[in-house]
Amino acid sequence: MNPDPKPILVIGGGIAGMTAAVEAAEVGYPVVLVEKEAFLGGRVIRSHKYFPKMCPPACGFEINVRRIRRNPRITVHTLATVEEITGKAGDFRARIRKKPRYVTGNVSLDDSVTEQLTSERPNDFNMDLDTTKALYYPHGAAYPPLHVLDREALSEADAATLTEVCPPGAIDLDMGEEEFAMDVGAVIVATGWRPYDAANLDNLGYGRCPNVVTNLMMERFAAPGGPTGGKILRPSDGTSPTNVAFVQCAGSRDENHLPYCSAVCCMASLKQARYIRESNEDAKITIFYIDIRTLGRLEKFYFDLLDDEKVTFVKGKVAEINEDPDSQELILEVEDTIAGEKPSPRFDMVVLATGIVPNTADSPIPINLEYDEYGFLDGATDVEGVYAAGCAKSPCDVSRATKESTAAALKAIQCVRRG
Ligand code: SF4
Repeated sequence: MNPDPKPILVIGGGIAGMTAAVEAAEVGYPVVLVEKEAFLGGRVIRSHKYFPKMCPPACGFEINVRRIRRNPRITVHTLATVEEITGKAGDFRARIRKKPRYVTGNVSLDDSVTEQLTSERPNDFNMDLDTTKALYYPHGAAYPPLHVLDREALSEADAATLTEVCPPGAIDLDMGEEEFAMDVGAVIVATGWRPYDAANLDNLGYGRCPNVVTNLMMERFAAPGGPTGGKILRPSDGTSPTNVAFVQCAGSRDENHLPYCSAVCCMASLKQARYIRESNEDAKITIFYIDIRTLGRLEKFYFDLLDDEKVTFVKGKVAEINEDPDSQELILEVEDTIAGEKPSPRFDMVVLATGIVPNTADSPIPINLEYDEYGFLDGATDVEGVYAAGCAKSPCDVSRATKESTAAALKAIQCVRRG
């Protein structure tokens, strides 16, 4: 056994990457965690609530962050990407690039500084549904807990304002990219996923009809830190919707889009139906589905909604959505396969249950790995010493992602121990 194992490189700081990092570090192995965003928590931290406990993700997240902060064996690089990996199991070399934050962290900043700026940027944390100032605090999940400056969004006038109002040494407008290389013994790929681009679903009204939204947008509407302060409102007029449809398999299980099942969007819609029912007791929900896929104990969640007389399930695929220009109601073309009818029901808001695309489909890991035709990695990968976990491997929920991450951490430990 190698008495001096090299660090384990974990790529991705979402729930899968965070879990792998703490599991490996807490049994004594050094870990380097690389995350491209300015915060940890990935997709899960952007949810209003998550399964199985239906609690805000910040609860479990804070525990994980404390475990990371307290563990001197974990080094975290945010705003960072892995540019190249060479070598072999037990003896890899990774080149890492860090984007400038322009905030030094030497002096603390507060919102009184950001309030003096006028330059704004789309708030990607909120699915671009609102904006932040060019100098912004990414989220409570910021890691390290520092503001970030979007240099491209900053006007010259605001650059001058920052120079004037910031304490000396707080901001470095000339900060450059940083690049460094390090030796690592194993690699865990936990790069997660992005939502399928709903702009490809023109037939379902996305982009044409303002009241057609996606499931990820709905998570941000429902979240207290979201663009509507936690109120679920129709985008077109800001009213509370009382008649909402969910369209399942929006893009997934469709040869023209994603041929596979995205695994989590049935549960996401059931959860979001509950958000709406809890925020408006008069609201009616209709869920159009091909199959409802709820695994294990989560099926109870489905059965509970079946008992709600204001929630209706219709087995049938929605073919088209159009808007009534006068009322901005949405008219669905759908085949009810159980009743054998083709109704054209109307709703005041529609949520598309869009699916999961692995981030590796757009940004492959910079070492020669074999992906399936959709960009997912096989669990073992074809390169010894590189292990995938979570949605980099296949669509999965939080529970499965954490189990797979623990398994990947064990495989990585075995690899670095062999040296
Ligand atoms: Fe369709 Fe449900 Fe699978 Fe998502 S989880 S692709 S909505 S069957």
